[in-house]
Amino acid sequence: MEVIFLFALVALVVRAIYVSGGFKKATEEVEDGFVQFIPQPTTEQVDKFLSEHFPFYKQLGPHNRQRFLVRIRAVLKEKYFLGKEGLQVHPVMMLLICATLVQITFGLKDYQLPHFTRFVIFPDVFYSRLFDRNVKGITVYHSGMIAISWPHALDGHKVADDKVNLLIHELAHALYLDYFGNRTERFGFAGWKDKALPIFESMNAIGNHPFLRDYAASNMDEFWAVCVEHFFEAPEAFYTQLPELYESMRSILRLDPRRLNARKVEVPH
Ligand SMILES: [Zn+2]
Repeated sequence: MEVIFLFALVALVVRAIYVSGGFKKATEEVEDGFVQFIPQPTTEQVDKFLSEHFPFYKQLGPHNRQRFLVRIRAVLKEKYFLGKEGLQVHPVMMLLICATLVQITFGLKDYQLPHFTRFVIFPDVFYSRLFDRNVKGITVYHSGMIAISWPHALDGHKVADDKVNLLIHELAHALYLDYFGNRTERFGFAGWKDKALPIFESMNAIGNHPFLRDYAASNMDEFWAVCVEHFFEAPEAFYTQLPELYESMRSILRLDPRRLNARKVEVPH
């Protein structure tokens, strides 16, 4: 019952987004079934789509909207998408994935996550050999690929403040692997770990946390990805409940989701 309800809701949102986007057949096969957004949408089309469907963008002031538009158009040119198990890649899928990438790297100078060029989209959960079970999403460094279940990605996007967002989650893994990775000192990531580790350890000792989702206790990689979801979807509550960790996230991501309408999102560094 709940599953049927979920899919009915998702189907409605899909239709609303697809119709309003006005994007049809704007994809071109590049190689091995991967497609790109060709021809590129106009800036006006992207602005209209994001203004209607992307809460992060809606909160930005004019200066930062321009910056977002420049960035998403650059990112769209560099990413490739493959539909699996009969799923047809729709331009709206590419826009939502690239918009989420631009969102989480918005405060950073190097924003494209250039190592991750391939996105594989499934019509539901899918089997992962690595984990030997069905998963909703997976980020694989060696092949520069992120795979996601589209209904779950859309469901995460649809409710912008429930602290669950599959696209933010997988892209946060990619951001760590591609950007922070071995350069943690340079970007202040070690400082974040100093703040995060005691919270992670107490979560494991107690079994839960009043604010963070249980999945954060899996390991430090998942703790990071769940923190990024919470940072963007519930910034005020995050700031209130875990002010030091929030401050550290703000410092390394160089933006404050509580103040997106400021003229510039960067914090002094
Ligand atoms: Zn994860």
